Amino acid sequence: MAVSDHVNLEQFMDGVLRRNPGETEFHQAVYEVAVDIFDFIEDKEVYHAAQILRRIAEPDRVVSFRVCWEDDCGNVRVQRGYRVQNNNAIGPYKGGLRFHRSVNQSILKFLAFEQTFKNSLTGLAMGGGKGGSDFNPKGKSDNEVMRFCQSFMTELYRHVGEHTDVPAGDIGVGAREIGYMFGQYKRITNRYVGVLTGKGLEWGGSLVRKESTGYGVVYFLEDMLKHSNDVVEGKVVAVSGSGNVATHAAEKAVQLGAKVVTMSDSGGFVHDPDGFTLEKVHWVMAHKGHRSGQLADYVAEFPGATFHEGERPWKVPCDVALPCATQNELSKADAELLVKNGVKAVVEGANMPTTNDGVKVFRDARVLFGPAKAANAGGVAVSGLEMSQNSTRLMLREEELQGLLRDIMLNIHSNCLEYAKRPDGYVDYAKGANIAGFKKVADAMLAFGIQ
Ligand code: NDP
Repeated sequence: MAVSDHVNLEQFMDGVLRRNPGETEFHQAVYEVAVDIFDFIEDKEVYHAAQILRRIAEPDRVVSFRVCWEDDCGNVRVQRGYRVQNNNAIGPYKGGLRFHRSVNQSILKFLAFEQTFKNSLTGLAMGGGKGGSDFNPKGKSDNEVMRFCQSFMTELYRHVGEHTDVPAGDIGVGAREIGYMFGQYKRITNRYVGVLTGKGLEWGGSLVRKESTGYGVVYFLEDMLKHSNDVVEGKVVAVSGSGNVATHAAEKAVQLGAKVVTMSDSGGFVHDPDGFTLEKVHWVMAHKGHRSGQLADYVAEFPGATFHEGERPWKVPCDVALPCATQNELSKADAELLVKNGVKAVVEGANMPTTNDGVKVFRDARVLFGPAKAANAGGVAVSGLEMSQNSTRLMLREEELQGLLRDIMLNIHSNCLEYAKRPDGYVDYAKGANIAGFKKVADAMLAFGIQ
């Protein structure tokens, strides 16, 4: 095929939209990557000829299934479960399970697509997948959650395995849910293997997994700032979310001398102008239970803080923004406000928290921007180390794991840098992450021929 016959970006996206109608989050995630990849492969015939990006943007398979369970009142409830296995060119599918009422095929396809690049960036042998259900564990009893998880795994077990596909937690799936699902897998298959990560320490889990995503986000921030001769210490930081990623990002930022002034949840955000001390962050960790919107209680405990119902924290002036709640929680208007208020760096803890036009605002304003697929990869990296520990049946010590996490984040930063330099000197980490993540997967796919 002559080079001039290749589809261009617009034609490529037309195809993605046509084949995946209504899947707006998936379109958004593919577009964000495709812009940079089309630029990178412009003069690389081999990737064009083998249609590599087209193939990565077509999941290997999407499994969807019915999940029935009985609530505490004896009502039969019907949910939908999914597993999207996006790409296993460089290792078994790997990626979390999300239980949230918003879950649908578009969201899971976007997450599995992103995960493919993220896992590649970690340097570990993991392909990309994602799954979950529109089941909402918040407000459910333990027994209801157990019945749902057992029913979910009764179907999922036939699609996963320690060398095939290794799910983990995500929004709404923590140690409790992983426990019920692991127990059911073990019971059905009569095999004790590392089929899930995020397990309890007594039954095959890894130290440092819980804090790895949030800590990794702040390590990435630290490396970005260091590269531009700056430090985390003294920075005013706005965090969104108050779940696993947000609280551990806040904890590490405080430990490194930053002043964290906001946290949020689905009910609104807390502004604490005195700053969240470690004690306050730990209070949030302890008080975020199994109900949504609990953060509002913070202001009664810590006078001086204010709660802003139904709002997001981006209007609070800060040096650093860490969106750590959910997708599309930072819009173009939010980005413009952050830039106007002098933000220096934005690092994504959540997956795709910034809309594409929001990212453009940051790139145009030369704000340091750490994209999720690089910045929040610490979690899946330690999940990869949990897989290794399960295979060898040896547990690594905490110091070793903390050191490995730090090294992996540093490596991800260097991998991004390789392709991130813009002619005007700006370091475009989003572009660097997209290209570095793509190249490894693409080269493996080339080695396998047409599949
Ligand atoms: P959690 O369930 O622990 O926390 C999610 C937080 O986000 C909660 O504070 C929740 O509020 C808030 N939230 C959820 N949905 C919305 C919404 N629509 N609007 C406003 N706030 C919302 O999840 P995690 O911390 O594990 O995950 C957060 C993000 O990080 C997700 O994008 C996830 O994919 C990503 N991520 C997580 C990793 C991990 O290791 N856990 C790894 C890599 C990425 P409330 O409590 O009120 O519902």
